[in-house]
Parts: sequence; C-alpha cells; structure tokens
Amino acid sequence: MEVIRTPAAMTAWSRAERAGGRSLALVPTMGCLHAGHLSLMAAVRERADRLAVSIFVNPVQFGPDEDFATYPRTFEADCQAAEEAGVDVIFAPEAAAIYPPGFQTMIRVKDLSQGLCGASRPGHFDGVATVVAKLFNIIRPQLAVFGEKDFQQLAVIRTMARDLDFGVEIVGHPIVREDDGLAMSSRNRYLSPAERQAALCLYQALESARRQAAEGERDCGRIIARLSAAIAAEPGVRLEYLKIVNDADLRELKKLTDSALLMMAARIGRTRLIDNGYLFPERDILQNS
Ligand code: AMP
Repeated sequence: MEVIRTPAAMTAWSRAERAGGRSLALVPTMGCLHAGHLSLMAAVRERADRLAVSIFVNPVQFGPDEDFATYPRTFEADCQAAEEAGVDVIFAPEAAAIYPPGFQTMIRVKDLSQGLCGASRPGHFDGVATVVAKLFNIIRPQLAVFGEKDFQQLAVIRTMARDLDFGVEIVGHPIVREDDGLAMSSRNRYLSPAERQAALCLYQALESARRQAAEGERDCGRIIARLSAAIAAEPGVRLEYLKIVNDADLRELKKLTDSALLMMAARIGRTRLIDNGYLFPERDILQNS
C-alpha cells in the first residue's frame, strides 16, 4: 500500500492506473478509521481494480467553535487497518496542499445544505462539497462511496456530482452500528461511559419511531413530540434537531410516506452526534438490493 502526500503525486498515480486500464474506487474519510469506514471499503473493494482511501481532516468544514483541533488523529493505526482492508493507496495531504495561499473557490449545493445539520453548522456542507470536488479532480475515481450515517452529506455529494457532471458514481452505504445500536462514529471516543450509555437514546428514538409507524401512526408531529419528550428526559442530552423528512429532498413531512426518514442530531455532554434511519426499514432492503 502506498501513502501519497501531495495532490500532484496522487494525480500521477491515478493517471498511471487509468493508463493501465484499471478502474479506481475512492473512500473519502477524515481518518480515525472504525468498522463503519472498513465496511465502506469492503463494499467497493471488488467493484474496482484499485481502492484509494483519502484521510484528510478538512479544516473548511469545521466551524470556529467546533472540534477541528481536537479531532482524533490515528494515522499509524489507520494505515494498518487500511492495508488489511486491501487498500492500494492512501492519500493524506497537508491542509496547505489542498488550500494553498490564494485559495478562494467554494462549491455550494444550495437548498440541500441549508436545513438539518446545515442550520447549526453554517458553511459545513460548502466545505464538504468543495473538498470532495477537489478529491474527485485530484484522484479521478470511477466511483466513490459515502455512508448513510451522514445522510445529508450523501445527498449533497450526489447532487453536486450530478449537477457538475463529475462522472463519478456515488454509492451510498448503510449505517454500521455497535451491537447495542449506537451508530459508529470517530467522535464516540469522546464519550465518557455515562455519556456512551446516554447516547443510546438516539437509536432508541429510531426504534420507537419504527414501532409507532408499524402500529399505524402516520402523523409526523405526534411521533416527533413523543420522541423529543423521551430524549429530553435523558440527562446530559440536548437535542439539536429531530425531523422526519422525505429521503429525496430532505424536506419535512407532515404524514409518513414509505420514504420517510428520521434524522436527528444531539449533544451528549460536549459531543455532537447524529443518527438517522428509515421509518419503514424494509426501505433499507429495497434501497440496497
Ligand atoms: P468521516 O471519517 O466521519 O468523515 O466518515 C467517512 C465516511 O465514512 C463518510 O462517508 C461517512 O458517512 C462514513 N461513515 C462514518 N461512520 C459510519 C457508520 N457508522 N456507518 C456507515 N458509514 C459511516
């Protein structure tokens, strides 16, 4: 496995692979790799001749009061895990190589970037879209995989790739969870044991919503009120948003449809976590079949 640090060397590597007739899949990450990331790699390993993973904690997608400086960086362990997962190349550039002096171009996917996480993290999805566009241009993969854990991000990237004719197939991958249901996240390592326990309220809310839907409840307002009350009762948890949206455009729904998606973000102590899922989980099966 190669580790490449500069955009020029990455582009040269990828160009040589293409010249040899080999296809390339990309898994963009911020490192601190866990089983969720490895599952993304496994999902596309057989779909392309070469597998590239980028590891880049992208400064422009963090707000001034967010955890850019303290975001966990575990590069040595990441390289080992990636090698074991059959990765061919890691692209791990310095921030100055991605944003050299004079950099001033940002990509904005207008509507999709506004609500949900975009409301509390202004500019976040512009930072995400911009860095992913740069990764696509530097690496030129045929396909790239993104987790449904960050459902809004996946929607933003799909739209950007389509609107700007990147010609990169965007593959979505289901959320990978711990045994007790907590969605895997690099930020879970910030949680104290008590916070780790409290964080389960997000998955429990999703399960409760699914039960209500299965029992015939169709009114989104009533479901949201019940879930919000349950989360509010959890000590140390502050709900940021909890919404039921349509999966295609992420607009809020009043009545459940078969594409209804519960999306939530909460602070568990100082740690911000997100989770989501379809209210009718058979949708997951349909989507991924
Ligand atoms: P990150 O390193 O957090 O930027 O994540 C890199 C990619 O892995 C993104 O496409 C995430 O959506 C995806 N990802 C992170 N955690 C999970 C998870 N628990 N299940 C599925 N995908 C995930």
